[in-house]
Amino acid sequence: MKILLKGDATEYKYAVEQMLLTVFPDERPEYVLKRPQEDGLTVSLSRAEMYSVSVCMLKRDGKVFRGTARVLSSALTDKITTDRVCQRLIKDSIYRAALSSGIKKPVWGSLTGVRPGKVFRNLLGSGLSPDEAVRRFETDYGVDHVRAELCCETSLETLKAEESLAPKDICLYVGIPFCPTRCSYCSFVSSSVEKSTHLIVPFLNALEKEAAALAAETEKCGLRVISLYFGGGTPTTLSASQFDRLFSLLEGLFDLSCLRENTVEAGRPDTITSEKLEVLKKHGVTRISVNPQTMNDSVLEAIGRKHTASDILNALSLVREAGGFDVNMDLIAGLPRDDPESFRRTLDQVISLSPENVTVHTLSLKKGSAITLGKTALPSAEEVSQMLDDADGSLRKTGYSPYYLYRQKFMSGGFENTGWAKPGHVNLYNICIMEELCSILALGGGGSSKLIAPGDGRNIRLMAPKYPLEYIEHSDRLCEDKKKIAEFLE
Ligand code: SF4
Repeated sequence: MKILLKGDATEYKYAVEQMLLTVFPDERPEYVLKRPQEDGLTVSLSRAEMYSVSVCMLKRDGKVFRGTARVLSSALTDKITTDRVCQRLIKDSIYRAALSSGIKKPVWGSLTGVRPGKVFRNLLGSGLSPDEAVRRFETDYGVDHVRAELCCETSLETLKAEESLAPKDICLYVGIPFCPTRCSYCSFVSSSVEKSTHLIVPFLNALEKEAAALAAETEKCGLRVISLYFGGGTPTTLSASQFDRLFSLLEGLFDLSCLRENTVEAGRPDTITSEKLEVLKKHGVTRISVNPQTMNDSVLEAIGRKHTASDILNALSLVREAGGFDVNMDLIAGLPRDDPESFRRTLDQVISLSPENVTVHTLSLKKGSAITLGKTALPSAEEVSQMLDDADGSLRKTGYSPYYLYRQKFMSGGFENTGWAKPGHVNLYNICIMEELCSILALGGGGSSKLIAPGDGRNIRLMAPKYPLEYIEHSDRLCEDKKKIAEFLE
């Protein structure tokens, strides 16, 4: 879509693009220097003595729609506040123009960020009761009632988690970027083992070096590891003995005596064996993710998972036989060949297996994934909405409550991902990372450390390369990077 930015709006392209993605998800911005003659947007922002005003003129199918938003200029105090308020003004003006042009109202209204819970907690922090904050979510941001309530519930869980944290608490993430094969919706970090088995040992050697560098900084800063999380990729692509060695190394390097939980993603059932489960048990793993995504074999085939629903059942019985683990099961709404009826069958089957956690994702259409590159037909936004409604109803009825949620770019229908837990089985890591409650220190491929300064919320990221070969080649730089932790946190 052609976009002309005028006045101070030129400083806020990102806000324009975020809202464009919300109201016209199929459009991509094309900036122009003259008012678009055909369909397009003209967005201006002016700051006068009394009011600051954003005006959006949207041309669509030959008609012009106008949206405006304004605040008292006295609200623009310091730079951070000014940017925040100006971004909101711009988004609101585009949102209003788009609504008046007749688009379907997005379920999250004019909220564009990945963490709606932060906005909700700010409302609670300003002194509103949960009910009042829900109403403000609906009136000020146009969020639908179901999402406003959902966000209220997860925000209250966040506040509980936040209260339980001490200032030096951190989560430790270990990224293992290998998978048995590549799923078609994956744009990401994993190297299929068929192609990269030879890299596993050098990768683990580099990981050991990085872990030693990180442990030294953790100790220097007096940080306390409260949660350990192995993600990927599929960590259980490692053999039992490789896992044993990795765990023993981490136990030797880090003080893990204050761990409150220890999760290993074993997303692909074809990687779970009794031998590996024994090793995980020996090293105190408390939670395992066995992720079907769907229990429909035809859908599994369409997404390239190379396993069947009965493999999931077998893997789960191995986990249950080993005993002592909370189980998470991930589902995805919006997969190719799926429909509300088949999603409902998946839900019923998963709930009957009684996992402690169920995470309901909405398909995110990421660049580079085979799904977006191909011409696979996907369920409509209405069908995805139906799937999420069914999940909400069934999970609540069977004793689960929502405990964290987040949104992603390019999500089918602009919905959300929600983690559900049985009472007493909330996973702290998921809340901490999604709500930025504490620093996450990461090791391994695709590991993204996020350092959060206690008190003022300032943060920085330290990124590791996604692909094993690159990770191995950058080993020295990654170890050197760890010095930034003490520089930032002290
Ligand atoms: S299991 Fe996850 S990380 Fe691995 S290929 Fe599939 S989607 Fe990607």
